[in-house]
Amino acid sequence: MTSQTDNGIYARDLDRSGANYHPLTPLTYLERSASVYPEKTAVIHGHARFTYAQFYKRCRRLASALSRRGIGRGDTVSVMASNVPALLEAHYGVPMVGAVLNALNYRLDAGNIAFILGHAQTKLLITDREFSDTIAAALARMDEPPVVIDIDDPIFEGGKLLGEKDYEALLLEGSSDDPHQGPSDEWQAISLCYTSGTTGNPKGVVYHHRGAHLNAIGQILAFGLNQRSVYLWTLPMFHCNGWTYTWAVTAAAGTHVCLRHVDPAVVFPMIKEHGVTHMCGAPIVLNMLVHAPAEQQVSFQHTVEVATGGAAPPSKIISAMEDLGFRVTHLYGLTESYGPAALCAWQSDWNDLDVEARTAMMARQGVAYHTLQELMVADGQSMQPVPSDGSTMGELMLCGNTVMKGYLKNPGATDEAFRGGWFHTGDLAVRHPDGYVEIKDRAKDVIISGGENVSSLEVEELLYKHPAIMEAAVVARPDDYWGETVCAFVTLKPDAQEIDSVEIITWCREKIAGFKIPRTIVFGPLPKTSTGKIQKYVLRKTATEL
Ligand code: ADP
Repeated sequence: MTSQTDNGIYARDLDRSGANYHPLTPLTYLERSASVYPEKTAVIHGHARFTYAQFYKRCRRLASALSRRGIGRGDTVSVMASNVPALLEAHYGVPMVGAVLNALNYRLDAGNIAFILGHAQTKLLITDREFSDTIAAALARMDEPPVVIDIDDPIFEGGKLLGEKDYEALLLEGSSDDPHQGPSDEWQAISLCYTSGTTGNPKGVVYHHRGAHLNAIGQILAFGLNQRSVYLWTLPMFHCNGWTYTWAVTAAAGTHVCLRHVDPAVVFPMIKEHGVTHMCGAPIVLNMLVHAPAEQQVSFQHTVEVATGGAAPPSKIISAMEDLGFRVTHLYGLTESYGPAALCAWQSDWNDLDVEARTAMMARQGVAYHTLQELMVADGQSMQPVPSDGSTMGELMLCGNTVMKGYLKNPGATDEAFRGGWFHTGDLAVRHPDGYVEIKDRAKDVIISGGENVSSLEVEELLYKHPAIMEAAVVARPDDYWGETVCAFVTLKPDAQEIDSVEIITWCREKIAGFKIPRTIVFGPLPKTSTGKIQKYVLRKTATEL
């Protein structure tokens, strides 16, 4: 036979076959861990424990039950749940039948959920009692609601059962002996994650088996997982499939420790009890741990690796986490890149830097994952890369096998995101002489005051260093003279003394250029998105109305 891909002597008789070519998929990770470590604890949830053999059987039962109900290739199965075993199992059982998993963000309202279920044409919805109010209201809005199955988790009290039966009863409909197949093509869709939709209806980001397989390996390499790893689920599994750790931890044959809600009073004791080695979370989660009352901060003897991303971690938070016994790895990514796609890779000479210089290095978003083809900072129109001078701003763009297939039923948005053969992140960044990238702002968050660009992140980074400030967010406020001025919203630490705007502005004065100093300071709690990010668009609106 003649090969399509090679020339010359390599063009003949060197073909793909079952012996040397299979579509990449994360499903094989579970099969392998179950066969190599059948008796090892795979999943912990409250007092319940599942070994790898049991975890695998439960996923196969789910696949079989779905298949017997006629769910298969190209169908969507949605799950509305916090970090419980059923959602983890759906990451395997659903794609085992060729269906696509849509993990719903449980902080969304009924209108958004109804939109997503309709847009995704969900055939079957698995939903936890905890979210029954939202789901009942969402289903009531739908003309053709999906089949509903309940998760009746004894750990949670309250809520209502809405569906035709419970998840455990669904599993009993299937058999773990039924055959199942991996994808026939690695480009086949595996998961559908909706963006938060701050600018209209959410967009459905579609992942494929190949990307999920690769990104999971990327996480193992970035975060150092292995079979001794104990991973605490402080990051929602609905968020980019838990940044693909749902597959990565299984691939490493580590232990998943489920957690319904992030509460420092629970997290610290769990770290100690289970010997947690790894966890992930947005900087806001780290901030919550850092500012937990001292009596909740149960100490532990080992170093816990914590990966943070989703927003820039202020260097103050990195050093405070280190003081508590955590080692911080900084990751960057988006829903469109299966979660983290870049990391601030550690350089050994940073060990010699003082805390301030070291955490400033670590606060940069860094370099591409092994599994991403490439990242570049370039002019959004000409696509010309910016010089690596640490000051010229451009748009951060990504390309590779861990960039989404595209947006579901939205070719216009997909084309726009992929123009010029790169995925446009909408983040503005610089590239340093050492090749590391640093995000200065989201394109829509940059403040232009008197013709000068002000990086909101730079001002926030400074405000976080003020001894009384716990959280800070900076946005543009329209101004007749300057065009825009810097407006800061701050939350003070619970034990901080009252301070006023003048004090903060004076404090900023010696530390930052005049045009970057906030003209307005508003005190109070900050509005957060469903994934814990500060809602700058709400603050921008408030700033406009001040
Ligand atoms: P949404 O777009 O709905 O907020 P995503 O999780 O896809 O949800 O958010 C991706 C965005 O989060 C990125 O475009 C970037 O602006 C921001 N982000 C993610 N990680 C980092 C990071 N390490 N540093 C700074 N910003 C980050």
